[in-house]
Amino acid sequence: MARRDKRKLLSTNSLWAIPLGGLGEFGMNMMALRYGDDILVIDAGLMFPEQELLGVDIVIPDITYLKQNREMVRAIVLTHAHEDHIGAIPYILGDLNVPVYGTQFTLALVRKKLEEHALLDKADLREVAAGQTSSIGPFQIEYVHVTHSTIDCVALAIRTPLGVVIHTGDFKIDPTPVDGKPFDLHAFARYGQQGVLALFSDSTNVERPGFTPSEKAVVVRLEELFRAAPRRVVVSCFSSSVHRIQQVINVARGTGRKVGFVGRSMVDNIEIAHSLNKLRIPDGSVVRPQDIRSFDPNKLVVLASGTQAEPMSALSRIAVDNHRALTINEGDTVILSSRIIPGNEKQIFRMIDHLFRRHVLVYYEGGRSAPIHVSGHASQEEQKILLQLVRPKFFVPIHGEYRQMFQHAALAEQVGAVGAEILLLDSGHPVEFTADGNAYKREPVPAGRVCVDRGSLEEIEEVVIRDRQHLSADGVVVPIIAIDKNTGLMGTPPEIVTRGFLPSDDGHEIMNKAREVIVRTIEQSSAEEKTDWTVIKEKIRVDLKRFLNKQTAKRPLILPVILEV
Ligand SMILES: [Zn+2]
Ligand SMILES: [Zn+2]
Repeated sequence: MARRDKRKLLSTNSLWAIPLGGLGEFGMNMMALRYGDDILVIDAGLMFPEQELLGVDIVIPDITYLKQNREMVRAIVLTHAHEDHIGAIPYILGDLNVPVYGTQFTLALVRKKLEEHALLDKADLREVAAGQTSSIGPFQIEYVHVTHSTIDCVALAIRTPLGVVIHTGDFKIDPTPVDGKPFDLHAFARYGQQGVLALFSDSTNVERPGFTPSEKAVVVRLEELFRAAPRRVVVSCFSSSVHRIQQVINVARGTGRKVGFVGRSMVDNIEIAHSLNKLRIPDGSVVRPQDIRSFDPNKLVVLASGTQAEPMSALSRIAVDNHRALTINEGDTVILSSRIIPGNEKQIFRMIDHLFRRHVLVYYEGGRSAPIHVSGHASQEEQKILLQLVRPKFFVPIHGEYRQMFQHAALAEQVGAVGAEILLLDSGHPVEFTADGNAYKREPVPAGRVCVDRGSLEEIEEVVIRDRQHLSADGVVVPIIAIDKNTGLMGTPPEIVTRGFLPSDDGHEIMNKAREVIVRTIEQSSAEEKTDWTVIKEKIRVDLKRFLNKQTAKRPLILPVILEV
């Protein structure tokens, strides 16, 4: 009865857009559209935690609003395969198992995630393609092809009883895409002519004037560097950047080099894209991982994951000479073909320093010559074109920090293509479009960040949503390790301080063993790792986490402290 009353409060013939993540923050994109008793969810992304959130692996949107209205949620529709759009799917489907719509490549990556979480059997995945239409409740969705840094990306043109809503997903307007599939300007123009109620559009690159260069712009520089390289070349890019990977494979072939792949996500994504015929790898052009080490360095390009210097990634390991497949030496070339994501500068430059210490030629973003990376997001001129084509009645900037959404709003104002109103929203703050043609900002719904511990990368563990309550139940473990900065040797045996973790009777023995784990971790690290405290702390955290979880079935927060002696 109570539920019926609550429904009455909602005017049944209005359309609500409820942003649940990605507005006023970077990542974790998610939005709900609601008409009457039907809710459609667009994207379900994650956010990588800031470094001060130690002990937390990923952050996902709070879906309390969806759970409160669970019987109304019809489906989740995905725009593309990036983590900030699909990364939360396994955590959300566990709670709210609704059909998931997405393109072939997007669903292939989702399938992999669900498999790792043992959720694939129960999931209802529905493959769609650009140009197709799905009917979901009162919503009719056309998938419109857009260009971006990964493949198989779509915008959504959603016909609702009150008019068409367009959600761009992430996009740039690339006139010469690597896969030959252009940005579908015609579809946007068609909807613009028919009339669009509201446009929700990507704000990521609004601070950049001009046009974002085509993905093909990187070819010239890659070719130049591959030809000039005296020995082997290691290229690191995002493992979802299938266009970039394709170009590296092409340029390698053109310059007489074979390619090898290292890093789990790189190998997995290449396998998936190749199996879907979305990556062309000529026969005989691949060097197997076990042959990379011995392969003629003058004829080799290695594609490695880890552009952001993630502590356990392939490139980070290579930088400190702790990778099984290869050791890089003087005269080798390393190309970081990616953006330096704000917040990661420190660890990336530390990794670059390690590479320079090995007398490796390192190329990264910020150089003066032609780009070795181009963005996947629209700059100002492309955003103006989109606004001019769509000419929406209402415009809502999405996907961006507040300053970016604000500047996107200002840009739309300047273009003058918005019929009625530009609305600046924050995550959790809905807007109601009414049948009489108005839009109103409404009271916020529950929204925010939920921290998740997904286990170490090596093992697939049961997922634990770790809120503060849970944290206080499992306690805190602080290993204190004294390391000589110059020699990398431990001054004294490690100490471990715990709070709220174990009762003292069986705690003593476990802590003794935990100390041994730390000693072993340090002994098995290379000299460079031992003097790089970010790396060594992360290794200790991961090893101790695994050990303590196995021994106690608990997941305390682990905060290693290194003392310089
Ligand atoms: Zn995104
Ligand atoms: Zn994206």
